[in-house]
Amino acid sequence: MGIKIDTVIDLLNFYKALGFKEIPNDFLKSLLKNSNAKSVKTESLLNSTVNIQSKKNNENLSKISIYNDDFSVSFGHEKNSAIEKLNQEIKECKKCPLSNSRKNPVCGQGNINAKLIFIGEAPGIDEDLQGIPFVGEAGKLLTSLIEKMGFNRQDVYITNTVKCHPPGNREPFESEIEICFDYLKREIEIVSPKVIMTLGKVATYALMEMKSKLKEIKISKIRGNVFFYRKIPVIPTFHPAYLLRNRKDKWLTWEDAQEALRRLK
Ligand code: SF4
Repeated sequence: MGIKIDTVIDLLNFYKALGFKEIPNDFLKSLLKNSNAKSVKTESLLNSTVNIQSKKNNENLSKISIYNDDFSVSFGHEKNSAIEKLNQEIKECKKCPLSNSRKNPVCGQGNINAKLIFIGEAPGIDEDLQGIPFVGEAGKLLTSLIEKMGFNRQDVYITNTVKCHPPGNREPFESEIEICFDYLKREIEIVSPKVIMTLGKVATYALMEMKSKLKEIKISKIRGNVFFYRKIPVIPTFHPAYLLRNRKDKWLTWEDAQEALRRLK
């Protein structure tokens, strides 16, 4: 059985929304060849996708609840206090040298009852100035991905591996990741998600519990596989900042997002 035509349409809508004006012919042909479409004109398929997308989004929302409802009813108050206490600790933290150069520590943001967490690397310049994770161009791209998955940004939980901006926008050192990891570990425990998506190699390295060397992690080789952190499936994918520079890899990120959606059902 081939790929369902609805899946092909979803995929095309996603690329269209991300600003793609053209789809490589070979890729489109292979999609249609493997789909269950009997006869579809490519142009009409692309032109007809906008209305279908909004319908599909609603269908997604009705099928997938993004909240851990049971957990929030029983432990809502405790979760709020736990995350407030954690965020206060992060704001006062001076455990690593990044505290000397940061403007604002950046705590996680979003719904603490979410079933889906996105974990990035470390705050960039915009995040450092505003104290909010994933703002700026990379943040817009992540928001676009979340919406294409059928959710709103406030439905999910978004955080970083390291909570303070490394000077010069460099990658965090292994030592900084290790020192800061306790905060991420506690965030995951509090939110208790069903699925985690790691954005880039730093978050992937951290959730692999730092068992290898950071420089040995190649996200292009790891993505497409699922591993487990404390029994929670982790789906590694590219960091949005990388995707801004390498637009062709957005195709692969959408595949990873679909794996996350399958596991949320
Ligand atoms: S990066 Fe983490 S460990 Fe280092 S100062 Fe910031 S919050 Fe503390």
